[in-house]
Amino acid sequence: MGMATSYSRSPLYSFLAPALLASIFALSSCAAPEPVSRTEFSLGTTCRITLYEKAEKKLFDAAFARIREIEERMSANREGTEIARLNDAAGIEAVSLSADTFLVLSTAIDIAEKSKGALDPSVGPLVKLWGIGTDAARVPEAAEREAAMELIDYRRILLDPERSSAFLLDPGMRVDLGAMAKGYAADETARILKEGGAKRGLIDLGGNIYVFGKKPEGKPWRIGIQDPQDSRGAYLGIVNMEGGSLVTSGGYERFYEEGGKRYHHILDPASGMPAESGLLSVTVVSQSSMLADCLSTTIFVLGPERGMDLAKAFPEEGFALVDADQRVHLVGKLARDFELRSEGPYNLGQ
Ligand code: AMP
Ligand code: MG
Repeated sequence: MGMATSYSRSPLYSFLAPALLASIFALSSCAAPEPVSRTEFSLGTTCRITLYEKAEKKLFDAAFARIREIEERMSANREGTEIARLNDAAGIEAVSLSADTFLVLSTAIDIAEKSKGALDPSVGPLVKLWGIGTDAARVPEAAEREAAMELIDYRRILLDPERSSAFLLDPGMRVDLGAMAKGYAADETARILKEGGAKRGLIDLGGNIYVFGKKPEGKPWRIGIQDPQDSRGAYLGIVNMEGGSLVTSGGYERFYEEGGKRYHHILDPASGMPAESGLLSVTVVSQSSMLADCLSTTIFVLGPERGMDLAKAFPEEGFALVDADQRVHLVGKLARDFELRSEGPYNLGQ
């Protein structure tokens, strides 16, 4: 079994939602041979890989080494990562990035353009100010929020594909890839496992799920989605999947409480506050976990109407948007593959 490394327990370390609060759980059962899993703490969350076959230790080693490598490149909260160096050089100079970080940052900028900045990888000053999920969490003053919001503008991140570099134009700008790095790590983990010969597996990076391979009977995977209003483990519904990724973003995943009010970790760059768009959670299925991770956070900020419009622009993906009136709106593949739990308070909406 892999052990958590000491840095990942640092109170300042809050790359992504803690997996103790994982929003998704796998309901999939398995036939012989016995599944083998390994869990490690990385990317600020609990990462678990399960293989449903005789699995070699070195395959797990390679997969977890890759997850750690991605964390070491993309965390905004550790010193010496590419993102930390990029942020330190804001307003000063361009910083060269690995192909990994360049790809994730450019995907984030693409979705920022498509969502008119609801998702913005330069949200870092606001993430830092609120500190949700860290010991420094607090409700900032309006003036502080405004100062942070001034620094957020994905159009002021200059990418140079030829040099594989990025330049944050203004001092104080900060990139935060917390909304999509776990997804990229899930894609890379899946690739390494498949290339290493694994035939069937489930990857769970703090609720970012990726499944591959078929059960012996050829039945689909059945993945439960957390009920955003119920206790941990209660589920909203089940998604049938042949393979690929399922990611949920929700305000219940990580939050700070003060004066009886909850402040969650998905921030609206337009208000400087935790997004209150009328959605309780957003689930996305896709062959790309990075895209699913990116889009679930984006749609959570956009809200039901604008979120449905963005969803419709991704015909290969599937979406389940849960609104505050307890209606579940299904778009694309999830209109076919989602089963609502019948005993719950939710209804399917248009
Ligand atoms: P997720 O848990 O994937 O929905 O992503 C939430 C994380 O993304 C937060 O913990 C922040 O690190 C970051 N984040 C929060 N709000 C935004 C936003 N509007 N745009 C981009 N990243 C964000
Ligand atoms: Mg996300």
